This record gives sequence, C-alpha cells and structure tokens, in this order.
Amino acid sequence: MKALVMSEPGHVKMTEIPTPVPKEDEVLVKIHASGICVNDVRDFKGDCNFSYPRIGGHEYAGEICEMGSAVNKDRFHVGQKVVTYIIDNCNECYYCKNGYENVCPDFSHTTAYQNPDGISGFGGFAQYITAKASDLYICEDHVSYEKLALTEPIACVLNSINKSNVEFGDDVLVIGGGTMGMLHVMLAHLRGARVILSEPMKERRDKALELGANDVIDPMNTDAVAEVKKLTGGMGAKVVFDTTAVPALALQAIECTAKCGTVVMFSSLHPNKPVEVNLGAIHSTQVNITGAQNGSVKTFWQAVQIMNKGVFDPTPLIEAVYDYNDFDEAMACAMRPDTYKVVLKMEDHDK
Ligand SMILES: [Zn+2]
Ligand SMILES: [Zn+2]
Repeated sequence: MKALVMSEPGHVKMTEIPTPVPKEDEVLVKIHASGICVNDVRDFKGDCNFSYPRIGGHEYAGEICEMGSAVNKDRFHVGQKVVTYIIDNCNECYYCKNGYENVCPDFSHTTAYQNPDGISGFGGFAQYITAKASDLYICEDHVSYEKLALTEPIACVLNSINKSNVEFGDDVLVIGGGTMGMLHVMLAHLRGARVILSEPMKERRDKALELGANDVIDPMNTDAVAEVKKLTGGMGAKVVFDTTAVPALALQAIECTAKCGTVVMFSSLHPNKPVEVNLGAIHSTQVNITGAQNGSVKTFWQAVQIMNKGVFDPTPLIEAVYDYNDFDEAMACAMRPDTYKVVLKMEDHDK
C-alpha cells in the first residue's frame, strides 16, 4: 500500500510499504479521508517527541475491506463505513475500569508515539489500517468520509463539554476560534447555552456568529475579563473552555469563570510554562479547574451518532480537501494560522 511516511520532521514521502494483515479479531480498513491535526502540524515542524520514521494521521474514516475470522458477521460486513477508536488503552488499569480510558497511562507507551523497531504513529495517512472490531463505530452512508474525518476532534470536544455539564441557559465562554474552539461554540450552542467567543481575528469572530455564538469579544482591543463580566451581569461565565495553547490565557480563563463554575483547559500548552494561580481565590470562588484530553469510547460514539442522525454537521469547519498525493500543499494550508480543518482524500487504492 501507499503511505505518507515522515522520515524526519518536515520530510514526508509517499512510500510503498506492506499492507497490514488483520488478526482474527481485527478488520482491514480502507482509509478514504484523513484530517490533519494541530498535532500533525507540530510533528511536521519537529515540536514533538516521537520516533521516526512515522506515519501520522489519527483523524481518519474508511470502509471495512477485509474481516478477521473471529469478527462478528452479524454486526460488521465488508463495505461498511467506519471510524475507529484511536486510543490503544490497556482495558485493565484503574482508569480503563472507571471510564477514564482516554487517559490510560499505557497509551503513551504505544507505537503511536515511539517505535524504535519500525514505523511509529497512528497510521491514518496511509491507504489501509487494521483495527480491532471492538474499536469500530458504524457510520451511515449519507455521512461523507470528509465529515467523518472530524469524528476524533468532535469526540475530544464532546469529552470537554460533557465534563463541564453545560445546561440550557448557561453562559459559556470559549477562548480561541480555531477548529477546536469553533467546535466548542457549535456544540455548546447545540446544548442550549448562550455562547461567547473571545478571538482576535475578525473573520473568525464573524464566522462564530454564523455558527451559533451569541456574542464575540476582541481580546486585543477590549479587556476580555471585563467584557465577559459585563455580558454576564457581573458573574462571569458558568463554563469557560480555553482552546488556546497560550499559558497566559489560562489565567484569563480562570478570571472569566463565575463562582462555582468550571474552567476546562482543553488545549495542551505550548510552550508549557507554569502559570501562577491565585489559589486563595479558588478557595473562595469554588471554581473547578479541570482539563480535557482525547475523546473517550463514549464520546466517539456520540460524535458518530450526531452525524449519523443529522443533528450536527461539521462541514463549515472543513477548510479544504486535498488529494493525499499533494500532502505538502495540504500541510502548508494546515500550517496557516487562519485555516480550519484540512482533510486528505485517498482515492487510488489498489493494495
Ligand atoms: Zn487530532
Ligand atoms: Zn488502562
């Protein structure tokens, strides 16, 4: 099969490698679309601690094209549209047994990160991938592969929103209007909240207003904290999602949170500089500070259902679709600070 192999950061070449063979409880998935994540961009720039060679891409969708002998034939069949749970958790530890499989410590020791004996990575930038049948989610034919490539980002955002318990009529502040920020805007809106977006780029603020934000703030030209307080009757937002990688904004996120509210550190911080938090204030405001990482088994399921059932359409966040033979152009587009999700399309399959 063909795969986009990164020999070292910044160097990706279409390479012929053996097509993986599914074990008896696995299927072979023919990948049709694969999103480029911020994480792939950082990897390309050399900002990640991975081993090389590597095949990136963890936001993929495809169809079953081969089934292992033990795969349940009542549930799965060749030609079925699927996405897969991408976190290779152990299913054995405390976290896995208590519904926190998305933070299973074993995951960071898998070949998704380091593979000294071969190719590391999630493998989504390739024509085929194997997956355990138990990791599959069945998708409806009417949902395009391009849309389904956003399942993983949506699952991450649903995990974030579920942790915050957004309710009808709540004030929600989203900091940052990139793809993940905008998904928070759209999904918090869907959940019945009044959504405020803080974002310096005007085009993004305008887009947010179209996608469900009720109010927008330009943090470069206004005092964002004062503005949020003004919009919320002096209280602050009940839930704040920080979707930016800027450490200083984490403090702002906390300051914008209402008493007894929740602030979710959704993004990882780059550079991850420690920030000084006034914990005395947390004592008296009872603000909950938490994080959200990855999608869970459940939020992947939820992400697929809202697209299968026509409740949610991520199309406005698809910036461009590139043929995967044009990876460098696609990556250049994904690297631009003003773009949303870039999706690679794989069409020319023949093992
Ligand atoms: Zn991602
Ligand atoms: Zn585990």
